[in-house]
Amino acid sequence: MIRNIQTIIPGIATSDGAGVKLRRSLGGQNQVRLDPFLMLDEFSSNDPNDYVAGFPAHPHRGFETVTYMLEGHMLHEDHLGNQGHLKTGGVQWMTAGRGIIHSEMPQQVNGAMRGFQLWINLPAKEKMKAAGYKDIQVEDIPKVDLENGGTVKVIAGTYSQESKEVKGPIQGITTAPLFLDVHLLPDSEFEHRIPKELNAFIYVYEGDLEIGGPMRSVPKQAAIVLGDGDRLKAKTGSVGAQFIVLAALPLHEPIVQYGPFVMNTRAEIEQAIDDYQNNRFVVS
Ligand code: MN
Repeated sequence: MIRNIQTIIPGIATSDGAGVKLRRSLGGQNQVRLDPFLMLDEFSSNDPNDYVAGFPAHPHRGFETVTYMLEGHMLHEDHLGNQGHLKTGGVQWMTAGRGIIHSEMPQQVNGAMRGFQLWINLPAKEKMKAAGYKDIQVEDIPKVDLENGGTVKVIAGTYSQESKEVKGPIQGITTAPLFLDVHLLPDSEFEHRIPKELNAFIYVYEGDLEIGGPMRSVPKQAAIVLGDGDRLKAKTGSVGAQFIVLAALPLHEPIVQYGPFVMNTRAEIEQAIDDYQNNRFVVS
C-alpha cells in the first residue's frame, strides 16, 4: 500500500540561537510533532548576517540532535572537551542523554550555509544515558546511484531495493530511524519501502515532487507527514527534486518539553532546570 500525504506542516520562518534565521516545521507552531521526531529546522542563507552569530553554549537533555550540512561548515564544542568540524555534506549525530552543553557555530563569514537540524526523542529508559556524538563526514555517507540517474545518500538505517541493500553509518538506535537524502532528475520516479509500523515524513528542499497513489503535488519547505502504508512512491516533473526522507518507530510515551529539555514528566523537567542551574546537569 502506497503512503499518501496525511498532514502538511509548513516550515515557518523564525530564528533561534543568537539570531540564526531558519524555517521550523515540526516542533514549530503548537509544537506539532511526529513521534519520535520532535523538531525539524531548515537553515538556508547566502547572507552571513543571517547565521554567523550561531548557537552559543546551550544545554540539551533527553533526546538526540542530528545536524546535516548541505552547504557550509559548522564548528561545535561541548563541555566534555569534544570539538568537531562538520563540513559540507557531513552529519553530526549527537545523543544529549542526561545532558550536554555545547555550541554550534557556522565557520564561514562568506558564502552559503544550508542544512537541517532534526531532534529525535529518546525512550524514557534512555533519556539519562551518557551524552555522546558521532561526526560523520561526507565520504563516510554511502551514496547509491539510481538507474534513472538520481542518487540516494543513506545517513541512517538501510536503503533497500530488490537485491540491493546499503546501510548508513547510523545503526542500532532504539527507534530504528531511516534518514535518506534523495536527489532525482527531471521526469523520474522513486520508490522505497517504509514499513507500516514506522512514522514517516518527507521534506522537499529543491524542485518539484509528487507522491502517493494517486500522485499529489507536494509543497516545498514543509514536513509532509505520510499516512498508512508500507511504500513511498514519488515522481518528479520537469525540474527534478531534492528531498529528505525520515522514518522511525514511535515511542508512545508522554512528552513534557521545556525548550531544550524533553522529558516524560513535569518533575523531570524541574529536575533538569535545577540540575542545570546548580551545575549538576552533566557528568564529565
Ligand atoms: Mn544544540
